[in-house]
Amino acid sequence: MIKVRFAPSPTGSLHLGGALSAVANRHFADEHGGRFLLRVDDTDAARNVEGGAEAIESDLGWLGIGWDEGPVRQSERYVRHREAAHVIGEPDAEGALRFGQTTLLRADGTPTYQLASAVDDHDFEISHVIRGSDHRANAELQSELIRALGGEPPEYIHHGLLLGEDGQKLSKRHGASSIADLRDAGIPAEAVRAYLEELGLPRHDVHLDMPRLRRLSIEALAALSDEELAARVGAPVSVAPVLRGARDLAEAREYASHVLEPLDVTVDAPETLTRFRELVEGGLDGGAVVRELKAVGGDLKSVRLALTGRERGPELRAVIAALPRDELLRRAREA
Ligand code: GLU
Repeated sequence: MIKVRFAPSPTGSLHLGGALSAVANRHFADEHGGRFLLRVDDTDAARNVEGGAEAIESDLGWLGIGWDEGPVRQSERYVRHREAAHVIGEPDAEGALRFGQTTLLRADGTPTYQLASAVDDHDFEISHVIRGSDHRANAELQSELIRALGGEPPEYIHHGLLLGEDGQKLSKRHGASSIADLRDAGIPAEAVRAYLEELGLPRHDVHLDMPRLRRLSIEALAALSDEELAARVGAPVSVAPVLRGARDLAEAREYASHVLEPLDVTVDAPETLTRFRELVEGGLDGGAVVRELKAVGGDLKSVRLALTGRERGPELRAVIAALPRDELLRRAREA
């Protein structure tokens, strides 16, 4: 039976490196008809963040990564960890239990990550541990602990880490280091998932490729129906024409506001606006209105300003297409 686990520490929104592990584990389980256990590694109380586990669960849900078992919190398995430590550990002078150089149970009786991880990988019959290469050094010790417990160690697969574009450890300074950062930046979940799937199990460290992620964002938005796109933006489907020009959901929200929340301005371009109203009254569509105005050297910037209150934004033809005729006339009149 193939069984993997994803074992984040509950420190808040998933770090992109952790998300890469999660996707790789899900992919591996699906590929082999196996199971995926979600385990929350909360043995280090000092690092636990209030709501951290919930944030991770919601990030996984957002990415479309389900789990077949769990979530199991290591802190709830304290009794079992302690019992295992007594079976395989030796007391030291301070009252901790050790296995060679490694502390299994601290003097205060709390289990360490090494102990809890080995015991849980053993008890939950994990066949493959897939995680970042920063844990490579733990594999040998964890195998030994599992053998000491009378088990057969899993196969360990370590993937390269996801680094910033400058090759440094990924952090806020790079613009995005967690799933929450990308979500806030308006990158759709499908694009993030596709990017992480594309990376697969990198043998070596990889640099976060924001241009690639942005390209996938454009593709993911293009694949959404008008209804779905509007729903994600929280806008009525009538504004879909302007949303289509956006490269991410944050930009789409901004574009929607141009149509839905015009800013008050006065525009001094009476001839263009008169012509604009005639064309709209004549029933021309957005593209035709823009063409006709261009043909007579009309001041398109002023039309945009009159309709949205902004100097720049989505394509003017899309703005015109997104507004009802009465509203177009009203805005042109009031400017
Ligand atoms: N909890 C560890 C971390 O978040 C992962 C432990 C493991 O996969 O063995 O880095």
